[in-house]
Amino acid sequence: MSLAQATNAPTAFPLLEGKVALVTGAGSGIGRAGAMAMARHGARVVVTDLDGGKAAQVFDALQAEGIDAVAAGLDVTDDAAVADQIDQIVQDFGRIDVLHSHAGYQIEGNLEQVPIEGMDRSWQLNVRSHFIAARATIGHMRAQRGGSIIITSSNSGVQYDREMIAYATTKHAVVAMTRQMAADYAKENIRFNALCPGFIDTPFNAGFETQMGGREKLEDYVSRTIPMGRWGTTSEIADSILFLASDMSTFMTGHALVIDGGECI
Ligand code: NAD
Repeated sequence: MSLAQATNAPTAFPLLEGKVALVTGAGSGIGRAGAMAMARHGARVVVTDLDGGKAAQVFDALQAEGIDAVAAGLDVTDDAAVADQIDQIVQDFGRIDVLHSHAGYQIEGNLEQVPIEGMDRSWQLNVRSHFIAARATIGHMRAQRGGSIIITSSNSGVQYDREMIAYATTKHAVVAMTRQMAADYAKENIRFNALCPGFIDTPFNAGFETQMGGREKLEDYVSRTIPMGRWGTTSEIADSILFLASDMSTFMTGHALVIDGGECI
């Protein structure tokens, strides 16, 4: 069995039966894999992406497996649209159990290289948008006495990269915000955890690939730098999303879950 096949397939014991989940940036990569895994485990998943066409493709892929879902275009930098989407979910399905706030942004460069707009955009996507989505969700989760909010950071949120100042700074900041929210809402059984993947082979790494000098150099870098000597798969990250979303992790909050083949060691 390959790594891609090994995990998050439907089982006789679905982890998320009866739960409702929203995923942002779910049209590709990790967001897509997590959304599909949650849907396969019984959740009603609202698959959203800036590109509504990509969200629709995830919807189609789930339909082909006989699984129902909802797809919508959603720009996480549009505060009103995010709040409307969350309210709509509660109106349609009566609850929201899981928010996986996933969309993010990466721009390479050091202090002198990153354009100021690149730093601002990093804050907007990597910190502020998670604040907005969590804020719009919290009242609903309080009313239903619990929920799981998963915020995508990165292993760059717990270690330092080279010449990635905007990314590393904002990914650290969102870990801090996640832990603060976890402390504030633990009494209400609303859990906040940060997802911290390492190198996962998705289109997200295009900028880093350019910075490294092309695909071959990036492959060489990954095989030399990651202790496990390889990329992680989106399926391996989806397993951690399932864990954080489900009752497998009911006593876990304020955690930064690193899945990176040992890169942080
Ligand atoms: P991806 O490029 O495969 O998918 C990202 C998706 O987000 C795309 O479909 C894109 O359309 C969508 N998106 C972009 N801007 C958006 C916006 N404003 N509103 C809504 N959706 C938007 O990327 P991925 O690998 O899933 O990574 C995305 C997230 O995972 C980011 O937060 C990133 O920091 C984090 N991450 C990725 C890796 C990795 O190696 N792939 C590692 C660590 C962390």
